[in-house]
Amino acid sequence: MKVMKFGGSSVADADRIRAVAGLVRESARDGRVVVVLSALQGITDLLVAAARAAESGSDDFRSALDTLRARHLEAVRGLFAPADQASVITPLTLMANELEEVLHGVELLRECTHRTMDLAMSFGERMSCAIFTALLATLGERAVYVDARELIVTDERFGSGVVDFAASYPRIASRLGAEPGIPVVPGFIAATPKGVTTTLGRNGSDYTASIVGAGLGADTIEIWTDVDGVLSAGPRVVPGAFVIPRVTFEEAMELSYYGAKVIHPSTMIPAVEKRIPIVIRNTLNPSAPGTLIGNGGQRTEHPITGIASIEGISLLNIEGGGMIGIPGIAARIFSALAREGVNIIMISQASSEHTISLVFKAGEADRALGALRRELALELETGRLEELELVRDLVVISVIGENMRGTPGIAGRIFSALGAARVNVLVIAQGSSERNISFVVAGGQHVAAVRTIHDAFLGPGGSR
Ligand code: ADP
Ligand code: ASP
Ligand code: MG
Repeated sequence: MKVMKFGGSSVADADRIRAVAGLVRESARDGRVVVVLSALQGITDLLVAAARAAESGSDDFRSALDTLRARHLEAVRGLFAPADQASVITPLTLMANELEEVLHGVELLRECTHRTMDLAMSFGERMSCAIFTALLATLGERAVYVDARELIVTDERFGSGVVDFAASYPRIASRLGAEPGIPVVPGFIAATPKGVTTTLGRNGSDYTASIVGAGLGADTIEIWTDVDGVLSAGPRVVPGAFVIPRVTFEEAMELSYYGAKVIHPSTMIPAVEKRIPIVIRNTLNPSAPGTLIGNGGQRTEHPITGIASIEGISLLNIEGGGMIGIPGIAARIFSALAREGVNIIMISQASSEHTISLVFKAGEADRALGALRRELALELETGRLEELELVRDLVVISVIGENMRGTPGIAGRIFSALGAARVNVLVIAQGSSERNISFVVAGGQHVAAVRTIHDAFLGPGGSR
């Protein structure tokens, strides 16, 4: 039994969807298959833009809906004989009309809550799956659409629901375990216990695949995308990045957390627990072996495994003698940020406690600044802390590898290579797991920094 997940790039248009159907049918001949699909490429962004337009009272949401309809109709025309088209177009039209009503409501209220946004975004995966289920049927396969909202239960954190595994796994096992046909499950979407639509966060279809795989005790979870596997660095930053044949679950988690978009960071959680290997494969190059994510087996000989980076980062330095020796200041800082729901990417503190550096995604930085100004108002007023300042347009770069554990000298080599390349490092942090060294540089030095490290450790002359 395996789960096959296809991302937006793999279902971008009729030709790609046809190729996916071929891959699924081939696998279904050898064993049981569950399919998880993303929305057609770009559709989730389009839905977000439509909802935002409606919220601002702009009629543009109607033209976004026209684009939505046109993209799906074009796929249908490319995939089905004229006689078969109507039966697919009808459910797609009903969904588009329902979405139009939702967005009309948003337009009237001039408000799009996270809950409504989740509902709006859910149409993308529902529509791609409607097309794909019908396609498999016309190809003679027994395919059934199974809505992920009947399978995956989350809390009410709309926009990024927290999965209740104990409630979800039995539903998955009972609904899919005995299903004789090929289940086609929309990725990304889920529901609260009361059945209200939620999502698992952007890029979350990978996570759906691993939740479904874990619930079924699948043998493998295949994530099909548009690159040959997990690469040693982001391909746009390092054109010479190569496919890493094997990575551990922990390495994959670190790489994705620090920006390797090829897999959603949470995907590894259910897979580790149930010890199910994940394979990253390329729909455009199905004969490539891909990357195997799992523990054990022959791994890389390089001292590092890969490099990941997140652009658009802001750094906040909290500085001042007022922090020295006063217990509880860090706790206050983190509680204030937690109350505000701010996600901290990286923390660094000198043991003197004279400075604490916090790193956020740019979109969270202003909220973080506001929350800390309120929390630390007294210290700021009395001069025990210096005025808080945000430094923007930075990049956090993370060097990751299981082999770094217990190997002395890696950090030294990273930072001397960066020094030789005249890259200025603002903050450094190393996890105590020792499989990750992260640091922050100016946005303008991003490419130079990543390429320098890639050359030093993974390039043709890179040492082992
Ligand atoms: P999908 O639509 O299949 O979910 P994504 O766009 O979410 O695909 O993820 C695949 C993309 O991730 C690749 O096209 C690549 O540009 C990007 N990427 C960033 N870092 C890495 C990396 N280290 N390895 C592979 N791909 C990466
Ligand atoms: N369609 C969703 C997104 O674009 C989920 C996914 O593709 O993984 O974020
Ligand atoms: Mg993705």
